[in-house]
Amino acid sequence: MKEIAQDLLYPELEALVLAAGEKKFRAVQLYRGLMQGKRISEISDLPKAFRESLTARFEDAPVRVEETLRAADGTEKYLFALADGNIVEGVLMKYKYGNTQCVSTQVGCRMNCAFCASALSGLVRDLSAGEMLAAVLTVNALAGGTPERRAVTNLVLMGSGEPLDNYANTVRFLRAVSAEGGIGISPRNISLSTCGIVPKMYELAEEGLHVNLTVSLHASTDEERERIMPVAKAYKIADILKACDYYFKKTGRRYIFEYSLIAGENADRAHAESLAALVKGRPCHVNLIRLNEVKERALSGAGEKEAYRFLGVLEKAGVSATLRRRTGADIGGACGQLRAGYLAKEQGGK
Ligand code: SAH
Repeated sequence: MKEIAQDLLYPELEALVLAAGEKKFRAVQLYRGLMQGKRISEISDLPKAFRESLTARFEDAPVRVEETLRAADGTEKYLFALADGNIVEGVLMKYKYGNTQCVSTQVGCRMNCAFCASALSGLVRDLSAGEMLAAVLTVNALAGGTPERRAVTNLVLMGSGEPLDNYANTVRFLRAVSAEGGIGISPRNISLSTCGIVPKMYELAEEGLHVNLTVSLHASTDEERERIMPVAKAYKIADILKACDYYFKKTGRRYIFEYSLIAGENADRAHAESLAALVKGRPCHVNLIRLNEVKERALSGAGEKEAYRFLGVLEKAGVSATLRRRTGADIGGACGQLRAGYLAKEQGGK
């Protein structure tokens, strides 16, 4: 694989352009073109010879759209092909307040949560910062946006992969995507979701990034959490909560718990009461979602009635909570589903 120009922050790109004997304004043109989601070969204000010397060293387009699916509710799913042929997915969800892109941080995942499609074939590799950034720039351009008038206004790091298991690249991506002069998505509009890698949560608190921290909790006792999330054997809920409080202390940002409601597993009234007792009084919000069924996984989502009852228990206890609607369910809503389906098709499966 060649290098990835989108991996470079502006000052690094400028140094490279100057070292190549080009004028500084060429760096501005190159950076602008990249931020507009263009391939290097398409940045037509750069001299052709310079473009060619760049594409000899850098991937012309590190992320290419392989397939686009559009759901009835407007949600768009993209399958991206990376330069080495690996496939990752991205989703654009449309809301009244703007458009949220769901970003993948790894090809596959090694966390192996019992309900999730992302880890079905294990971790293949980490994404580089530039690959994550290129996915955002590509979707922004496809949706008609520019760096000045963004079509992608919000990001959630909830695609395939565990962002804190690819820490350095993820942090570099967060700096690049929020940099002034670039696409400039505000950290306030970015949520990083983790299964709770405690030491990295502390590290993130020190980065001065101020993104929203979301933790996938899915259970209120360690015993129950271990049943569905292998990572729970390494990090206990009490320690996750301490790390969340530290993040709040450092950033002033309320944290969020994700809780996917799984029939017969974590969605009874007793579970709701236990969760309420655990998080009550903390500077947090609980996002409930009925599990999206993944055909390779045996678990099924809680019913709608059960989900509303769960929400009701939390609200009555004074816990801030919402039940999210499942967007794009008709095109494979859950993490990793689209890639898993694509890989199965490629391999002559279903
Ligand atoms: N690794 C990170 C981010 C990726 S998963 C994390 O664990 O948070 C993004 C969210 O989707 C997580 O809360 C995850 O638990 C949840 N999720 C995964 N598969 C799901 C499914 N089938 N239905 C509902 N939510 C799911």
